[in-house]
Amino acid sequence: MEKISRRNLIKATIAGSVGSVVLPHLAQADQSKEVKPRYIAAYDTESSACLAACRKIVAVHKRFEMPATFFIVGRTLEANPKEYKQLLDDPLFEIASHSYSHQMLRDHIFCGPAVSHEKKQKEIFKAKEVIEQVFERPCIGFRTPCGFDDGLKGAVDVLKLFQEAGHRYVSGLLWGPDYSMPALLRRPFNYDADGFSDLWELPGHGWHENLLKDNNNWGPKRLTLWPPVMPEAIPARFVETPKDEFEVNRVFLEKAVERDKPFVSLIWHPWSLHSFDPEMKMLDLTFTHVRKLGLKPCTYADLYRKVSAG
Ligand SMILES: [Zn+2]
Repeated sequence: MEKISRRNLIKATIAGSVGSVVLPHLAQADQSKEVKPRYIAAYDTESSACLAACRKIVAVHKRFEMPATFFIVGRTLEANPKEYKQLLDDPLFEIASHSYSHQMLRDHIFCGPAVSHEKKQKEIFKAKEVIEQVFERPCIGFRTPCGFDDGLKGAVDVLKLFQEAGHRYVSGLLWGPDYSMPALLRRPFNYDADGFSDLWELPGHGWHENLLKDNNNWGPKRLTLWPPVMPEAIPARFVETPKDEFEVNRVFLEKAVERDKPFVSLIWHPWSLHSFDPEMKMLDLTFTHVRKLGLKPCTYADLYRKVSAG
């Protein structure tokens, strides 16, 4: 018997050539298929080159009516508060924290040792204060500089600071196993095991795109896992074109659908996107594919509201 695709089945049903007996099954199948992963465009906004980049990024977002979360470094915002407010003060966008001055909150294998407790406090509290002053709305999330391969698990001192500051979520799980790239499609979880059941971890996925392009000038590094968990997401060389970058992105978007993941969000940096692809063609390709796959665009704050409501 010829296999009948869901689309053809729907067409046939509409045309009246399939008996009504299939309809309950169809309705059931439709319902389960309706739950598509959410998609979050997110930007670690962290250097002086990010402002010009954000102007181009925002234009693409407005054209696609695509929401985004901008994780912004306090000092970067302080350097151009009016410009950032004018650019990002839009209902499409969430403004969250990327620390005050991009210091390490835990020891990091590539990015260096953790700073003192007092400095951690400043990185968390001061950044939130600056963002809330400029944007005049609550800042509820924090993307940790560099990120870690198990998020903030076991870092009770840091988790306590996030809770005291009033953050609701942290996006700190940004690496694959054993500090490998890419970061896998991990689901949100709360830090209940460390005593913070109201604080959520909302991971980032895929590559830190700057590393895909050697934009940190690190050269070849031991970055991938063996045996790899997602070999199809590991290109053989640094990406060279926006299309190459999109081909890596699409693996994560499509896997999120295939594996029924609640969400997918890639780890992007305005300065790096802009230096590689000043016309933002990769965003165009990626957002077009997000729409084609039927993913549900939202912000990290939206995702937090969803997961914390159970
Ligand atoms: Zn960063």
